[in-house]
Amino acid sequence: MSICEYCKKEMLESKSCDFNTLVIDGKDYKRNKCIDIKCHDCGVSLNGVHHFGCDNEYCPKCNRQLICCKCNIEGLKGVLLWVKNLKKLRLLYISMF
Ligand SMILES: [Zn+2]
Ligand SMILES: [Zn+2]
Ligand SMILES: [Zn+2]
Repeated sequence: MSICEYCKKEMLESKSCDFNTLVIDGKDYKRNKCIDIKCHDCGVSLNGVHHFGCDNEYCPKCNRQLICCKCNIEGLKGVLLWVKNLKKLRLLYISMF
């Protein structure tokens, strides 16, 4: 069982993350939706927004995998905890499992 740190939903049972806007370089970007019936990494459904930190989310700015792109991702709109370094976030997720 793993809970999304941001929307606090159980990842494998929720259809979508609650936060659909990413802030990159001070600008708002709509997050890319899931294009699979069910995401095999975070478990969201087709057209749902991936839980933040998912391997299958693509950056809305550069279209690379979000967890490895070089954009200055400031965080999710609506979340108080702003994330400066996504790679660090990923390590955090791994250590929680
Ligand atoms: Zn979530
Ligand atoms: Zn996903
Ligand atoms: Zn990017």
